[in-house]
Amino acid sequence: MELAPCDLCASSEFQTIDNKDRHGQDLDTAICTTCGLVRHAKVPTELELQEFYSTTYREDYNGERTPGPRRIMRAWNNGERICQQVAPLLQSNSRVLEVGAGIGCTVKVFEKAGFKAEGIDPGGEFLKFSRDKLNANVQITNLYDLPKQQDYDAVLLVHVIEHLRSPRESFEHIAGLIKPGGMFYVECPNLQAPFARRSKLFHTAHIHNYVPATLRMLAESCGFRLRKRFGDDQDTNLQMLFQHSGEKQLNIDTDNYRRTVNDLDRSSPLPYHLRWRYVTDRLSKVSSYTSEHLRAKKFVAGLIQDCGAPTADSQPRERRRAA
Ligand SMILES: [Zn+2]
Repeated sequence: MELAPCDLCASSEFQTIDNKDRHGQDLDTAICTTCGLVRHAKVPTELELQEFYSTTYREDYNGERTPGPRRIMRAWNNGERICQQVAPLLQSNSRVLEVGAGIGCTVKVFEKAGFKAEGIDPGGEFLKFSRDKLNANVQITNLYDLPKQQDYDAVLLVHVIEHLRSPRESFEHIAGLIKPGGMFYVECPNLQAPFARRSKLFHTAHIHNYVPATLRMLAESCGFRLRKRFGDDQDTNLQMLFQHSGEKQLNIDTDNYRRTVNDLDRSSPLPYHLRWRYVTDRLSKVSSYTSEHLRAKKFVAGLIQDCGAPTADSQPRERRRAA
């Protein structure tokens, strides 16, 4: 099988590390033996990706065309966490762009925190919620259609890079959007997280899988330097804040390939303290699913009212005031 060169280091030497995805379907996963980037052995074409997102992926999301209340509430809470992490490193009134804004909640959270926040998403069905109901500044636009004018103080890229054919292409374009010295926040699944059991790891939609070293190397080679890392190695998500330096440095961490293979081979069972954390994480998730059902609808109704979008409820009140 002829493999496309590694998007991080351009090497063509890969080692196959798995042949099933997390649902037991055939999926060849390979690791670059030079830099340790993990990806689908065969990177899908743009056409195959479009096909995938228009059919299979939609079913994974239960055919939802508009986001349900629980999804919205979780997106809002995630947005608040990200804003709490990133905001202290930004000047007030900074211009913030979220690429792949999804539902658009994070954009609205940043706006409410005092930033000039906007978001883009290529799909956009979910985006309509925050645009129409929360008055968020979000647009259906492709990243590559934004001109590289370096006029943003910060760009957010949350759970996007794992889906991309070429993360390098997107990082380089984003470098063209951010002011010198500006911030770039990236969040994606952490392949190194110890309780991601191997059989649960790989996902058809996740073309590239990152450990801390590969995400950092990629960003550095595209003109960024690591400013701050949030969370720890046990977190299921990598959360890294980079600063735009303009200096492209590809520093290959030569230990990363071996380290990543060893981490993935490490046999179960998990060490006790990790198992305990896994169990408590699962328990808090299970209990939160139940209470989410009860809270989410109320939460979203409050959000819509709070964000000042004209709704059926608020119109009569305004008319009363006018009269
Ligand atoms: Zn590589």
